[in-house]
Amino acid sequence: MPSVARRDPIALRWTTAEEEQEAALFPDESALGRHVGTGDFAGMEFLHVNARSVVNRVPEGSRVPFRYTVNPYRGCSHACTYCFARPTHAYLGLGTGRDFERRIVVKVNAVERLRAELRAPSWGGEHIALGTNTDPYQHAEGKYHLTRGIVGVLGEARNPFSILTKSTLILRDLRVLAAAAGRATVHCCLSVATVDRAVWRLTEPGTPPPEQRLAAVRRLNEAGVPCGVLVAPVLPGLSDADDQVRAVAAAAASAGAVSVAAVALHLRPGVRQHYLGWLAEARPDLVEETGQRFAGRSYQPEAEQARVAALVASAVGVAGARRPRPPAPLGGGVRRGPDDRAVARHPSAARRAAGEQLRLL
Ligand code: SF4
Repeated sequence: MPSVARRDPIALRWTTAEEEQEAALFPDESALGRHVGTGDFAGMEFLHVNARSVVNRVPEGSRVPFRYTVNPYRGCSHACTYCFARPTHAYLGLGTGRDFERRIVVKVNAVERLRAELRAPSWGGEHIALGTNTDPYQHAEGKYHLTRGIVGVLGEARNPFSILTKSTLILRDLRVLAAAAGRATVHCCLSVATVDRAVWRLTEPGTPPPEQRLAAVRRLNEAGVPCGVLVAPVLPGLSDADDQVRAVAAAAASAGAVSVAAVALHLRPGVRQHYLGWLAEARPDLVEETGQRFAGRSYQPEAEQARVAALVASAVGVAGARRPRPPAPLGGGVRRGPDDRAVARHPSAARRAAGEQLRLL
């Protein structure tokens, strides 16, 4: 077990409850302690909190295809340079760079809270999306097993759910996921932004290699857990060449993905500064053009979204995949059996659904 650090040299809003009376975390959380990682988790820090509730309701008016989410972790050691969740760490007084990647907030009571909330008479069994904020199968999950517990509870309750992840750690829970898929509507999605290993190493340093993620897609589907691929985000100047997009889409189709969708990079305030700052170090030659693309806006022109979607659709077709119904929405919809195999007949709809979940990331 990791040791417990009583003090931290950096002034954090996050602190133990007895040290600070004012709300130091999100309003529905109370702090338990700070644990320094050792062994495989050396260099990391885990901020344990008790959440008063773990099923979060998406704000009214949101266009996302689900109304409820559960996120057992905040911060993510996958350390994707473009990560849309980075600004959430700033709410805690933590940095959106290294802190986001190494200081992980852990809702240690997430499983028991979820069980209680699903039993509440007011709960209507609605779909729950996992992976809308940070990755539920990030490295911390190897230590805390919260996502595994959550999947088990959802399966026991026959509650529909979906998971979006970049991690092959999901395969650790293959059996529990397959059991849940036999009892409820379940949909998984592996995010694979590129199969270009150089780009992968540069932009997603904490994630498993893309080919391992695609192998995970195959194994999940073979085990009866419907799993698609989200090609996201497509990065300007790094992974947006036609042949790069086609390559990852074709690989996804070949891996048996039940859906394939792509999302062009978007950069909201906060994330934009981080990404452009990183780009200035890693690929200064791309700074000017990328900056111009996002000058005064978070999203690229619709034409770029359409281009990426069309590339995916054509690549999937070339890969010889069957053309079924639109991809299962990330917010629900189980597809089982041979009729459910791949892909992207309606890429714009897929992109919208995928983009909405990704936007939450
Ligand atoms: S994009 Fe997803 S996997 Fe990558 S750091 Fe953010 S939450 Fe983690």
